[in-house]
Amino acid sequence: MLNISRDHVIYAFAASMSPVATVESGTTLVFQAVDALGGQVTSAETTLDHLDFSRVNPATGPVAVAGAQPGDALLVEILDIVTSDHGVMLAVPGLGILGHKVDTPTTKVVPIGGESVTFNQWSLPKQPMIGVIGTAPQEGSVPCGTPSDHGGNMDTKDIKVGSSIYLPVFQPGGLLAMGDVHAAMADGEVCGTGVECSADITVRVHRIPQFGIARPLVVTPTAIMAVASAATIEEASQLALEQVIDFLVAKEGLSFNDAYMLCSLVTDIRISQLVDPLLTVRASLPKTYLTAPLHP
Ligand code: CA
Ligand code: CA
Repeated sequence: MLNISRDHVIYAFAASMSPVATVESGTTLVFQAVDALGGQVTSAETTLDHLDFSRVNPATGPVAVAGAQPGDALLVEILDIVTSDHGVMLAVPGLGILGHKVDTPTTKVVPIGGESVTFNQWSLPKQPMIGVIGTAPQEGSVPCGTPSDHGGNMDTKDIKVGSSIYLPVFQPGGLLAMGDVHAAMADGEVCGTGVECSADITVRVHRIPQFGIARPLVVTPTAIMAVASAATIEEASQLALEQVIDFLVAKEGLSFNDAYMLCSLVTDIRISQLVDPLLTVRASLPKTYLTAPLHP
């Protein structure tokens, strides 16, 4: 199977980046992801007094999908995530929503088992997720620490095995890269880190012609989640909700007002993360309410 090694990492998603490989639609491949700190933190003695968002979250790739053109989407099925046997967590002054309360940095090495992770005396379910996944942006360059319409550092815990993610194609080939796996993380990622680990991520990628989404869409076994990142939670929520309503209007024939009211009943606005340079939410609609295919 094609393996994209951890020697191929980017620190920014650039419109002009060059692929390290080109694959046909339908290919299964492995991305070897390094942890969000580039493997620099290896013991509890390694502490950081600040986190530089331009130097974190290396993503492995990018990989082009043959024939993908602006206006298409890439569909990435997440088949497997095999993590390292330990991860790290950090409390760093200034990082996270209460970073101003952190006086001195703390680093923890967190053992990762087959089914659980161990934090202090607690054993928590292991739920590996991909923090950073995206395509080349419309223009310029977006550091891997920042989420945006191309994806990037969305830190959304539903981006996990069994889910699929649609990503917009803004540049030929789409140029897919990913990294920043967390073995566990809660909505919000309040301290700014999950259980940061390296991992081998197995995905199957598809080109979806002329499925012109504005920003990422996660599909779980039970829900369709529009993901949006913006300067405020309100703005991100508006963008995510608009995507869900657009689907209900276009695919199910609802009026805007009916779709808006239905969403008020069945669409959960969930916080993905509160700690990155832009904030990320997802609007989650149970699949029951969107039965028409999303694309041809
Ligand atoms: Ca992250
Ligand atoms: Ca992370």
